[in-house]
Amino acid sequence: MRFSGFRVMREALRGHRGWGPLWRSPAPQPQYDIVIVGGGGHGLATAFYLAKEFGAARVAVLEKGWLGGGNTGRNTTIIRSNYLLPGNEPFYEFSMKLWERLEQETNFNSMVSQRGIVNLYHTDAQRDAYRRRGNAMLLAGADARLLGREELRAMIPFLNYDNARFPVKGGLMQARAGTARHDGVAWGYARGADARGVDLIQNCEVTGFRIEAGRVRGVETTRGYIGAGRVGVAVAGSSGRVMGLAGLRLPLESHVLQAFVSEGLKPVIPGVITFGAGHFYISQSDKGGLVFGGDIDGYNSYAQRGNLAVVEDVAEGGMALMPMLGRARLLRAWGGLVDMTMDGSPIIDRTPVDGLYLNGGWCYGGFKATPASGWAFAHLLATGESHETATAFRLDRFARGHVIDERGAGAQPNLH
Ligand SMILES: Cc1cc2nc3c(=O)[nH]c(=O)nc-3n(C[C@H](O)[C@H](O)[C@H](O)COP(=O)(O)OP(=O)(O)OC[C@H]3O[C@@H](n4cnc5c(N)ncnc54)[C@H](O)[C@@H]3O)c2cc1C
Repeated sequence: MRFSGFRVMREALRGHRGWGPLWRSPAPQPQYDIVIVGGGGHGLATAFYLAKEFGAARVAVLEKGWLGGGNTGRNTTIIRSNYLLPGNEPFYEFSMKLWERLEQETNFNSMVSQRGIVNLYHTDAQRDAYRRRGNAMLLAGADARLLGREELRAMIPFLNYDNARFPVKGGLMQARAGTARHDGVAWGYARGADARGVDLIQNCEVTGFRIEAGRVRGVETTRGYIGAGRVGVAVAGSSGRVMGLAGLRLPLESHVLQAFVSEGLKPVIPGVITFGAGHFYISQSDKGGLVFGGDIDGYNSYAQRGNLAVVEDVAEGGMALMPMLGRARLLRAWGGLVDMTMDGSPIIDRTPVDGLYLNGGWCYGGFKATPASGWAFAHLLATGESHETATAFRLDRFARGHVIDERGAGAQPNLH
């Protein structure tokens, strides 16, 4: 079934009886060529590109809950490619270009909205750092523009420009950045993968790996053993736990990241805004809610809920930046499990177990990476070689000292 304006009108006239489920619910087969563990955006995008770009047949995605119920359905939906380092920027710009054609490619309305992002600067030194970052972005084929204070004030008048402690001096803008509807992204990829023959199997938790002579042969699941030629793991905050089942210890920690949404308001925030003097970012959803967040909770956890210290910290950041926020009523807050690496950058790589591959370490920012991550992981699973934009995301880089420390913060996960 193809979605189109014509189809919507036709169904409206026929009492909407013609819509079907977006994907099948098949029983697991005994053996697949490729099994992907984790039905979040990354696992689903991997399956989609495996089938579409690499012609892979006999692929399954195993999800312990429901598709898109992990971080993919819990994030603040920001997409951007405003990175500095050569290991990161080409990859995120590749992702941005894939976002720009995603809806045509999947024939699904994922509400990709290029409403722009502005990273605020508050000191001259920060302006210089943003100028450098903007130049790195331009060199990688992305867009970037440094805004002065008055230009910014005309665009976003309600910020606390003259805050004595954190005066807003300007911002680095990426106009092509923005937001996308997170579950719409998962559903679009799921539908596209299913249509190309991928089995999407929900309520199927991977509980172990069958490994013989150093090679993975399949996975033990709550729905029985499933054989696999290759296994790709894309389980975000559960990476440490799942790879532990294969005897591997990963260079990452799992933390809770919380997010917040206010009651619906009339349009007030034009794009995404990030505070440069604290950790706070905000945008407005199409329903009108102000969607915002800040730091991770400061302890390791596998629980998908956070604590009040971070709520207070995020509220302080928001109030320092835009005092009008204090008049909005908070509607909901929630938490997701983020897998924080020691340098803040992800891992898309093979592992010491033959045939077992890892996609993880997405920290605060894996949603924006979903298309490129799926493409690069599919490339790795199909060809055994890293995609050209993902060659730096190696698992052994921490042992070799080739870290990709975007923030220059050192091996402290909460600072990335
Ligand atoms: C509050 C919050 C805000 C965020 N905001 C942004 C943002 O604005 N922009 C951005 O770019 N990124 C953001 N992120 C990060 C982003 O959401 C994640 O990096 C990204 O969604 C990870 O996608 P994923 O597919 O790897 O993981 P997930 O969507 O978490 O999917 C992993 C799946 O694996 C499944 N799973 C786990 N264990 C097993 C098992 N044993 N067997 C089978 N399945 C298993 C889980 O149920 C889950 O569905 C945010 C994250 C949070 C929590």
